[in-house]
Amino acid sequence: MSFDSLRVSSPKIVDRPFVKPLLCGPGPCDYWPSVVEALSRQVITPNCDEFYNVLDDIRAGLQYVFQTQSKLVLAMSGAGHAGMESVISNLVAPGETLLIASRGIWDQRAEIIANRLGIKTELIKSPANSIFTLDQLEPELNRLRPAALFITHGDSSTGTVQKMQGLGELCHKYGALLLVDTVVSLIGVPFLMDEWGVDGVFSSTQKAFSGPAGIAPVAFSARAEQKINNRTHEPPFYFDVKLLANQWNCYGDTRQYHHTMSPPMLWALRACLQSICNETMPVSWARHAASTAHFHKRLQEYNFEFFVPKPEDRLSTVTTVVLPPGVDYSEFVAYLREKHNILILEGRGPTVGKALRVGIMGVNARTAVADLLADAMADTLRAIHPPK
Ligand code: PMP
Repeated sequence: MSFDSLRVSSPKIVDRPFVKPLLCGPGPCDYWPSVVEALSRQVITPNCDEFYNVLDDIRAGLQYVFQTQSKLVLAMSGAGHAGMESVISNLVAPGETLLIASRGIWDQRAEIIANRLGIKTELIKSPANSIFTLDQLEPELNRLRPAALFITHGDSSTGTVQKMQGLGELCHKYGALLLVDTVVSLIGVPFLMDEWGVDGVFSSTQKAFSGPAGIAPVAFSARAEQKINNRTHEPPFYFDVKLLANQWNCYGDTRQYHHTMSPPMLWALRACLQSICNETMPVSWARHAASTAHFHKRLQEYNFEFFVPKPEDRLSTVTTVVLPPGVDYSEFVAYLREKHNILILEGRGPTVGKALRVGIMGVNARTAVADLLADAMADTLRAIHPPK
């Protein structure tokens, strides 16, 4: 072959060093130190005992963090969206109805995914700065008799946390499965899959897990498992939980190749779970609640306002903060990054131009971080919007 025939010449790829900011947006969050080490380990083949042991550890850790005794627990190769697509596509067949409780952008993603799969969608809406009550949802479940209800537990676009008690029972009364997005809530906020009757749940590892994005924990209840085993439709091959259960040895009898999983991602997830399990969930939830309560107190002292009026509806991993009229949200975010090396994000979806999204989660859920952040935000406001 003649090398003269190359049509694209080699690009100059230079190193681009940067100073890493403190990650206080709605995700990703900074890593546990053990994750940095796990990501730098040499790769091994995903078909050997050393690797299988990691999968077993991960499944045990995920059963603990989801609080489920279900066997059908594993992690999808992919970001949170992979979890979302796998939960929806395995549990709702084309032509069936998915009722979506919509208050932010993640339920809109669920709608897009479901529609692409040929699933009928129905939306019930609540204002972006509030959550759903059982009384609001019951008439729609009764009227539509959907195959499933999709709801976001912690919504990073609005900074709200949905109350989950009673929701599973309500869905089951009307023959619906309960599907839940816990991408930005799991580890930071109490979540009890079995206790609350959740049937399909997904999360992601770049938020309160304090790991890299790219591996999405999922879990399915016995009721969901029954639907999967008796299914009349084929979900997308890559997201087929029946096949993945064989690869993950969920039932203790198979190690069947489905796709090449990424060892560094799995080592990183295992490292996250090791730290989280050592800390224990109640201690982690309390740490998140205490650091965020402290952050909110400090914000109030500086006269910042909250997008979510009721304190009990505020998500402890992501706070949505309203700036005084006339202050430019992009300028605020840029100044905080430039002058304080702290990264937060502007609003998304219903909070665009209406709120900042500030995350205190994972390894950063500490009072010292809350103080640093509140002081830097106050300084930023003074600098770009000096008092008259
Ligand atoms: N759901 C929620 C609540 C999220 O915050 C996010 C990510 N910000 C997602 C879903 C999507 O996750 P990913 O970007 O990892 O695909």
